[in-house]
Amino acid sequence: MPRTPDREKPPTALGRPSKPGPARGGCLCGLIRYRTMAPPRWVAACHCADCRRASGAFLAVYAGYIPTDLIYEAETPREFSSSPGVVRSFCPRCGSSLTYRSTRWPDEIHLLTATLDNPASFCPESHVFDRERPEWLQLADGLPHFPTTPGKD
Ligand SMILES: [Zn+2]
Ligand SMILES: [Zn+2]
Repeated sequence: MPRTPDREKPPTALGRPSKPGPARGGCLCGLIRYRTMAPPRWVAACHCADCRRASGAFLAVYAGYIPTDLIYEAETPREFSSSPGVVRSFCPRCGSSLTYRSTRWPDEIHLLTATLDNPASFCPESHVFDRERPEWLQLADGLPHFPTTPGKD
């Protein structure tokens, strides 16, 4: 009897859970501190040029949250519109990039997981804008790589 295709989610890289529940994080200088109230909807690594410049790094890993699930403990970040419909936030003192919002995903806020206190436990499930990944950055994590975003080209 042929095996039925496994409809379960494939295991994440290295078998770690990719979506921990409530978590805390903040910017480099500690002015901005936040907590998340629930697991994110998804975790993905973005290679696009805008995220590269905004984060100052070649890979920006985001976790997608319902906006009300991200709570700032005291100070709130400053915002910058990096392209039409897109707002990125950062610490006004140290400049750490913190979040991304777009009118394309109006019911989500995308949190840069590198600012979490336990960033390593948030495993990406995929890579997006892989076409903008530099050739020298070769990844063997077994995750899906999308040229832009899932569902597009
Ligand atoms: Zn700061
Ligand atoms: Zn990006």
